[in-house]
Amino acid sequence: MRVLLIEDDHLLGEGVVAGLRQAGFEVDWVQDGQSGLDALRGERFSAAILDLGLPRLPGLDLLRKLRAEKRTIPVLVLTARDAPGNVIAGLDTGADDYMVKPFDLNELSARLRALIRRATGVAASLIEHAGVVLDQAARTVHYRGQLVDLGTKEYALLEDLLLNTGRALTRGKLMETLYSWGSEIESNALDVHIHHLRRKLSPDLIRTVRGVGYMIAK
Ligand code: CA
Repeated sequence: MRVLLIEDDHLLGEGVVAGLRQAGFEVDWVQDGQSGLDALRGERFSAAILDLGLPRLPGLDLLRKLRAEKRTIPVLVLTARDAPGNVIAGLDTGADDYMVKPFDLNELSARLRALIRRATGVAASLIEHAGVVLDQAARTVHYRGQLVDLGTKEYALLEDLLLNTGRALTRGKLMETLYSWGSEIESNALDVHIHHLRRKLSPDLIRTVRGVGYMIAK
């Protein structure tokens, strides 16, 4: 799952990026509101973490524009402890959750996972489908009761497809969720990961949708 961090505090930003990567997220980071809005308009992120006090475009204005454009991406707002009114303003403007600085990075990861699940209509952190059990909290995958050893990208790809069961995901969308800016990407990477998933799980689990991409059928 790929998330966008919009935060102008350098030290905090670096900490959050490192912590979320550790937790298995792909993370991109911009340091002003306008760049954040541009990134969210242009690319596919599973969620955004939004600071409110930002240069170029304040966080609440960004959020207002995003919602006015009917963009439903989950947004978690970061607020300062000494500004309780921010929480109410953030939620009223369309934020899905908030955290008060300083915050615990493990809690941030858990909240992001929950927000992303809810946005895709999945209620529990255990996603079960056709003999596959993916545990988002433990980051493990079992197939027919056996633990399956998956690479980071294989796991992320399977998670994306499972969260969107019944919907075909384009190659472009799948690639955007797998790789943050500046990652080295091989052109056949997606097909290789799909091949590995089919071999490690079941050959019929992931369907090729010709001319589009891939899907896991309902
Ligand atoms: Ca700030």
